[in-house]
Amino acid sequence: MVGGSLAGLSAANWLRASGWDVVVLERSATPLADQGAGIVLHPSTTRLLTERAGIPWTSIGVGVSHLRYLDRSGQVVADRGCRYRFSAYGALYRALRDLFQESGGTFLPGVTVAGARSSEEGAAVVDAAGSEMAAALVVGADGVRSTVRRFVDPTAGAVTAGYVAWRGVADEATLPVEVLQPMVDAITYTILERSHVLTYPIAMGDGSLVRNWVWYRNLRHPDELADILVDRHGVQRDLSVPAGAVRDELVADLVREGTRVLPPQLAALVASTAAPFIQVVTDVFPATLARGRVCLVGDAGFVARPHAAAGTAKAAEEARLLSQALGRPGTDVQRALSRWAGVAEPAARELVARSRLAGERAQVQGTWRIGEPLPFGLRRAGDSEC
Ligand SMILES: Cc1cc2nc3c(=O)[nH]c(=O)nc-3n(C[C@H](O)[C@H](O)[C@H](O)COP(=O)(O)OP(=O)(O)OC[C@H]3O[C@@H](n4cnc5c(N)ncnc54)[C@H](O)[C@@H]3O)c2cc1C
Repeated sequence: MVGGSLAGLSAANWLRASGWDVVVLERSATPLADQGAGIVLHPSTTRLLTERAGIPWTSIGVGVSHLRYLDRSGQVVADRGCRYRFSAYGALYRALRDLFQESGGTFLPGVTVAGARSSEEGAAVVDAAGSEMAAALVVGADGVRSTVRRFVDPTAGAVTAGYVAWRGVADEATLPVEVLQPMVDAITYTILERSHVLTYPIAMGDGSLVRNWVWYRNLRHPDELADILVDRHGVQRDLSVPAGAVRDELVADLVREGTRVLPPQLAALVASTAAPFIQVVTDVFPATLARGRVCLVGDAGFVARPHAAAGTAKAAEEARLLSQALGRPGTDVQRALSRWAGVAEPAARELVARSRLAGERAQVQGTWRIGEPLPFGLRRAGDSEC
């Protein structure tokens, strides 16, 4: 397994459950930091934890029962019932990593894979120092800039969407009651001119809750992307700038712009966030998910824009289906991978297209209507509700 984040740990756990010996090679030398990112849960995201490990979803998630839209003056202009659940990247990561370690799997931090290969006899990865590790199967779960994808489909790369997600979390205890009022028991949206912003509570996995927000902002000109990805130390980042590393003048501009265009409650939320961070929105559309004995799961394969809130769910479902297709060790791996890809690829293509359409409607066409149901869902809009 190349990559030990949500996709890698999901696949590693499902394969362990089918009896495979699994070694996870993770580039980061330290446990992945809590990126403070909220995750809309889908039944597929929690299935491994709830059904296989008996962990109740309430220990990692929190639910709401309203979808509210605020106008720019801060009035609630639509309020409808919903059943969404939310967690935090860190809560899911820790639960999946603990489960993998309890299962006897091997997690090797600080290993950067430089390439993969496959033959009739077996597969292998080579690390940055040139050492090779052989396996019956290599699963690339190494994210948007996947190294393993270069072996599976060298032509596929990330295509930027023309806008970025500014994100952050704030401690609700620091916010006045009137700011929080329209957000209580709700996921709250505001549709702006060629932009949109949303907020929901997230469970951190230790019993505490924080308030997560995401504001999708179009780039004003093509050069702006490279500029906002230069961090406070002058380092040119790739597709994200983590919490604490965004330049002060960009945060000041975000807060100023928030005061100008957001409802007062959401402007206050953004302004009270200690360390906002940036993720570039991209599409990745590889021709295939498997070549020989090597396959791709999660963002290493297809990447859908976040509007369907199903990237982690896609990774979890691809992982489950992979272990189902492979069955017990000793199977014909190439055959199993091609069977699996025949199911996983069309599902991923549909999700990428649906998420792209939702993003274009909000950020380009301006056709997302106030009050309309959300596009959240893995196989179809609506299937994230539970
Ligand atoms: C704004 C935004 C909101 C989102 N909201 C949701 C949501 O609500 N619900 C949802 O389901 N999904 C959501 N997603 C999507 C979700 O976050 C991703 O799909 C998911 O986290 C991808 O996980 P991954 O493990 O595939 O990739 P990553 O988390 O990127 O992990 C890749 C791992 O591979 C490691 N790695 C990379 N290269 C190498 C190498 N060469 N050798 C070894 N290791 C390597 C990295 O260190 C990393 O640990 C959102 C995404 C964004 C941008």
